Parts: sequence; C-alpha cells; structure tokens
Amino acid sequence: MSFLKNFLSDSDEVMLLLGNEAIARGAIEAGVGFAATYPGTPSSEVGEILMKAAPHTGMYFQYSINEKVAYEMAYGASLSGKRSFVFMKHVGLNVAADPFVTSLYTGIGGGMVVMTADDPSMFSSQNEQDNRRYGDLAHAPIIEPSNPQEAKDFIKMAFELSEKYSIPIMLRTTTRVSHMRAPVHLRKIQNIVEKNTDIKKERSRYSSIPSNARKLKPQLTHKIDLISHDPDFDSLNRIEKSEGSAFGIITSGVSYNYVKDALVDSGVQANILKLGMTNPIPIEITQKFMNENSRILVVEELDPYLETKIRAFNDNLGGITKITGKLDRILPWSLEFSEGIVMNSILKMAGIQSTVKEAEVRGIPPEFCPGCPHRSSFFSIKRALRMSGASDTILSSDIGCYSLSYYDPYDMADIILDMGASISVGAGISIASGKKTVAFIGDSTFFHSGITAIINAKRSNANMLIFILDNTTTAMTGQEPTPEFPFSIGDEQFNGIGIESILSGIGVDHSTVDAFDEGNIIRETIRSIKQSGLKAIIIRGPCALLPHQKISYFEVSPDQCSGCMNCVDNFHCPAIIRDGNVARIDPYECDGCGACSEIYVCPVKAIHEVKL
Ligand code: SF4
Ligand code: SF4
Repeated sequence: MSFLKNFLSDSDEVMLLLGNEAIARGAIEAGVGFAATYPGTPSSEVGEILMKAAPHTGMYFQYSINEKVAYEMAYGASLSGKRSFVFMKHVGLNVAADPFVTSLYTGIGGGMVVMTADDPSMFSSQNEQDNRRYGDLAHAPIIEPSNPQEAKDFIKMAFELSEKYSIPIMLRTTTRVSHMRAPVHLRKIQNIVEKNTDIKKERSRYSSIPSNARKLKPQLTHKIDLISHDPDFDSLNRIEKSEGSAFGIITSGVSYNYVKDALVDSGVQANILKLGMTNPIPIEITQKFMNENSRILVVEELDPYLETKIRAFNDNLGGITKITGKLDRILPWSLEFSEGIVMNSILKMAGIQSTVKEAEVRGIPPEFCPGCPHRSSFFSIKRALRMSGASDTILSSDIGCYSLSYYDPYDMADIILDMGASISVGAGISIASGKKTVAFIGDSTFFHSGITAIINAKRSNANMLIFILDNTTTAMTGQEPTPEFPFSIGDEQFNGIGIESILSGIGVDHSTVDAFDEGNIIRETIRSIKQSGLKAIIIRGPCALLPHQKISYFEVSPDQCSGCMNCVDNFHCPAIIRDGNVARIDPYECDGCGACSEIYVCPVKAIHEVKL
C-alpha cells in the first residue's frame, strides 16, 4: 500500500510518522477544509503531505506567495465557517504578524490553528527567535507537543478550543519535534467541518476600526483568563510524580524528552510538570505543583519564557518555591539542548559533580549541489565584476539556496537580512552612499516579498543591478511550486505569472540569460554594471534536484588537463576532485550540466561530455 493510502486510512491503526506528517494527519482528522502556507524548514513536510492529500479529503490547499497572504487567506476561510490551518517556519510569523495579532482581537468563525515551527540552533534559518513570545504579544493560546502522537492529538484539540473561544490557537513545534519519527495511532477522519457563520451580522467584530478594537481588547484578555482555568485543556498538561522527592522540573515541548532521558540516566529523582499549554499557564495544576515542590528547575529551549511566568506566579504565591533555570544561568539561552546540557543542569540542582560532556554543534559548510544553476551564475558574475573593475561593489543577498554563495570560493554575499530584503537593503545603500550596488534574489523570494521592494527601488531611482536567480522552484525547502509556472492540485489549476511581465509592468529594464551559458552571463553583467539606474537580469536554469533524466556525464581528459585546478578551487563542483596533478570527475556525482566544460572554467577545454 502506498504511503499516501496508508496516511489517509480511516481505520484505527499505527503508522510511523514524522512530527510534521502527524500534524497534517491531525488536521485531516479534525476535518480541516482550508490550509495554506509559504514553505519553510522546519515546517515544510506539512505542506508536502497536505498538497498530496488535499484532493482526496476535499480540503483546499495552497502554497501562498508569502506567510502574510497565507494567514489572511486562512482567516478568510475561517470566517466563512471552514476549519482552517496555516503553517510556517518561525520567521514566517514575523511576516504574518500583522494579521495574526489583530485576528486575536476579532476572533474567528470556523476553528483556526496557526503552526509555527521554531529552529533552535538555526539549522536552516537566519535566527532562532522563540515564537512563544508572540503568545504574550498577541494574547494567543499556545500548545506545544513533545512528540508526533501529541502533535496529532494536540492539533485536533486546538481546533475544538479555537471554536469554543473563537480565537486562533498557536501550535508551536521546534525542529526536533517536527522532524522526529515515531509511531502514531490514527483515528477516524471527520468530514470537512462547516460552521454556520454570518460575516455581515458580525461586522462590528470583524471590522477592526478603533471604536470596535477598543471593545475587543478586554474581551480577548478575558478569554485568556478563562482558558487559564478551563478544565477542557487539562489533558494537555500532566504531573509525573516521583514519590518522596520535593525537587520539581517544569518543562514543555522537546525539552520534556531530554528531561526524561536525563533523569533515567542520572538516577536523580524528580517530579515533572509537563505543560502542553504554555500560554496561558494553566493555573490549578501549576499551583498544585509549586505547592508540592520546594525547588523547581524550568527546562525549556531558547528564551526563559515559561521560567519568567513561573517566577511571576511564584511571587504572587508569596515566593513559596525556589525557581531556577536560565535566568540564573543554570541553562543556556542559545542553541538547541542536548541530553548532556539538561543532565548537567539536573545534576547541578541535585548537588552532584558532573562529568557529562555536552554535545558540540558541528559546523559543516553547505555547498551548491552538482548541476546547480547557481554555481555557474555566481562563478560568471564574479568574473564579470572583476573584469569590469567592480569587485568591491556591495553585494546584497537574500534567503534561499543562493545564500550559499556566501562561502568560499564565491564570497558573493556581503549582507543577508531576511526574506526579500536584498533589494530594499541594496537600494538603501545605493541611495545613501551614492554607489552602485548589486542585489541577488531568488524566484520564490521575488514573489514572496521582492516585488514590493523592487517597486520601491524603482520609485526611489536606486542605482542597482538586480540578479533574479530563477531555478524554477522553491528549492531549499523541498521543490515546492512558485507562482511563475502553471501547476495543479487535484482539480485546482493555478496559472503561471511570468517574472518578465511583472518587471515590464513596473517599468524595470531587464534581460534574461541561461544559467549555464557562462559567456552570456559575463557579457550581460559587464554591460549592465556600467549602466546607471535600476536594471534586472533574470538568470534562469532548473534546480538540479527537480526530477529529470540524466542523459550524460562529463569527464576530464588527463592528457589535456594542465592541472591548473580552476575547476576544483574556483568553480567548486563537488563532483570534480583533485587526483594527483590532474582533475577528475566522479561520474556518479556528476549531474551532466556541462557548466564546467566551458572555456571560462577549463581554459584548455579538457572536460568532455560522455553520453549515457
Ligand atoms: S580546469 Fe581544466 S585544466 Fe584545469 S584542472 Fe580542471 S580540467 Fe584540468
Ligand atoms: S558537468 Fe561539471 S559542473 Fe556539471 S555536475 Fe558534472 S562535474 Fe559538476
């Protein structure tokens, strides 16, 4: 039976699922009718499976152009009565923060869950912000699963509670919970839930003009008060007793797993309060736990979010318990935990000398894949800038595979801030310094937030050359479709929107070149860097990881090779290796793109195609 068929099975069975797949299954079991996202690791597998499952469940699914649009679409679907689900990586919520915060005021129609997947240690992100902070900012209830089974069960509960209080619920995971694989008990799939809503009758709630918002804010804080005492949330939180111990640990999410392992391996006896709801803090169970323990360690990754609340709670109770955690540096604020880090904090609390080594974060610089169109693009642009005497031009780059150009031997990213920022930052530098700048942006990022930036750059008369590195997909997160090309999900057809037509509409002078045509990239760059004003060059070539048939590979002729190592040191395709005094190509690694065979890489033309 195929994975998808199993995944959509309506019978009680157990399936080995990733946390993200379990979340998708939970949404389906809850009868979700609308789901939208902008792909981003560590949340991307939710979209991969929902896109395949949607045509079989009656759910509408879409990859929106950015997280704000995805959030607003899902909110609209909720107002129309459907249960809606919007999911994104942690920084995606920054993009969606505007509608998110106000939607807590207005409330919703059908249940609405927003998933944020945080990335401690920044495996694929520019920061590791703790999105639980948004819970306080927006007064949003937060639910945090610790494993795939909870991920599935908690999202179902989140939809129920969302409808009970007419409030969006945040489901917060971290990379390890999203990517952990474990057995999950499947339950019956509900039909798509349709709630009767009447948007027109409730316009005073949904139209957040100041006079309405002033009434809605106290209602929101009242809801949060009610939720903090609501027994319907009880099953999210539990106490695990260790008889005779007055040492307690409060924890949530993935940290609970580290605590369990550390207690077993250290032999320390401790009671655990495992919180599945981390905003608001559930009052009764937390108070009971604090009354029963004279010392409490709060174990949580990233910020001392729970700890701050627990300390305030303790102060209100008259300081009955000694609270320890990150604020007194027992645990670090940065990077992912390991069992060793948690074990050391527990041993310290127990007054035991520790010899446990904490796992080190290993940094392996990532690189472009064999056959990646970005390699020949950056190699050629770098050469062209050098030939034009423009090597010191400020290079403003963006979020996507092409950010790998930061590394040796390309060194083609001086600034990377956030999605879509390359054009705005480059324009700001150009206007403030009076110097020409270069900006790099990918096709998906162009649609995400580059279009508004390029309109602003045009109206600001920025003196900038923009390279749109179009690999025809959202590559870094799993080859999701961009709006540029037509595609379909079930019967739903999406039309393609050409990047060239958008640039023409804005009035930006532009040209298009092939990513593997190094000569043309060099010529076009030299010509454009000399012009003043705003110009865009679209460099188009498909991502090497998109499905395609390999029809040839390339090999180095040892008799012709001069041993200059330009292909190894400067072009840097992983398939090309040094073999004594000559270069050699691994035929299995080689993708057959042919970029290394051009004279700009191999000046003696020693690299030849071998047809398969
Ligand atoms: S660039 Fe050509 S000549 Fe130089 S090492 Fe590579 S294959 Fe040999
Ligand atoms: S043809 Fe050359 S550049 Fe392309 S994948 Fe093969 S070795 Fe790498």
